[in-house]
Order: sequence, then C-alpha cells, then structure tokens
Amino acid sequence: MPTFDEYSDGLFGNRRDPLLDQFLEEARRAGLPEIQIPDEVGRLLQVLITTTGARQILELGLLFGYSSMWMGRALPDDGRIVSLEAEPKHAAVARRNLERAGLLERVEIVEGEALKTLPSLESRRFDLVFIDADKGNYPGYLDWAVRLSHPGTLIVTDNVWSRIADGGQDLLTPFVEEFNQHMAENPRLVSTIIPTRGGQDGLAVAAVR
Ligand code: MG
Repeated sequence: MPTFDEYSDGLFGNRRDPLLDQFLEEARRAGLPEIQIPDEVGRLLQVLITTTGARQILELGLLFGYSSMWMGRALPDDGRIVSLEAEPKHAAVARRNLERAGLLERVEIVEGEALKTLPSLESRRFDLVFIDADKGNYPGYLDWAVRLSHPGTLIVTDNVWSRIADGGQDLLTPFVEEFNQHMAENPRLVSTIIPTRGGQDGLAVAAVR
C-alpha cells in the first residue's frame, strides 16, 4: 500500500511546477531553513484561490517565496500578493526566485517585522490571508488578519498542530494553542483545522462571516 505522499505525488507530481524544486535548491544554497509548505497545502491554497476568486492576498512569512509561488500560479492576472518578511536575506532569495518565475510584479514584498508593517495596510482588505510566520506572534497575526478582512475572507494558517502533537515542550506551543483557541471562539469566524504531513502537523482554515 502506498503512503499518502506517494499516492498524492503519483496523482499530482507531474503537474507540479518544476520551478518549485529550483526554489528549494536556491534556498539550500543560501542556507535558508527548509520549512516550506507541503504540496498538499500548496494545492489547497490554489483550490481556495480558484473557488473564491481571491485577488488580494496577504501573506505573513514570505521565506524564499515558495508559498507565494503556489498562490501566484493560481491568481488571475490582476491578482496581487502582499508578502511580509522580517528577514532581509529571505526576502532577497525570494525576490530572485519570484523574478525567475515571472511573478515578481504580482508580489509586493514588505520587509520588516510584520507587527510593525501591518499598520501600513490598515486601509486595505484582503480576500485571503495566509499565515506561516513566527509562531510567537500567531495570536497577534490572527487579530490583524480579521481586521484586514471582509465577509468571505479566508484565513489559512500553517503549523497549528505539530507542537501540540510533540507534547508541548516547545516554548512556542502556548502561542499556537492561544491562536487555535481564539480562532475557534471568535464568533466572526467559521473555522476548522485539518491534518497535514501525514497527521504530524495541521492547517487552520477560517472563513470570516
Ligand atoms: Mg510553515
């Protein structure tokens, strides 16, 4: 019996953008952490963008541009991603990667700590917010995501289960738990968490009422 990943790769592997592997190679060369999203999350983001017709996307945590690449490929021509990144080195590698993919004009990279740059977006509203950044600020990021939303906005958040699954020893666990709790309790949100990485981690998906 194949594993989930083997089966899924068999189904979708040859439809996967080959540039994604080049992005990974670049990240490896630059010594960046390989903590990019798994393929099933990339594909789900594409499905969500397509079903909702999302055009304005906010990403917290650009890293080397890997998830922007997944999302950018599903965006219509007039779609835009605003991506926040605290680490200049990550932003530089992402810029190179996205340029090579022909996506740089669709991705506005905002460098700096997200909690300091988010207020500059106050007047904007996003159709989809993807949170995949420093876990210690997850509760604050959820507040901002809701603030920059409109009814129907999707808030998708990576890594909401692994630390809890590991027994909670990681110092960042309480922040992830607080995020999950606030999301589940927020009356403006309809939300769920689904397993990823064969159940080792989870993805939160919330829709704003
Ligand atoms: Mg992640």
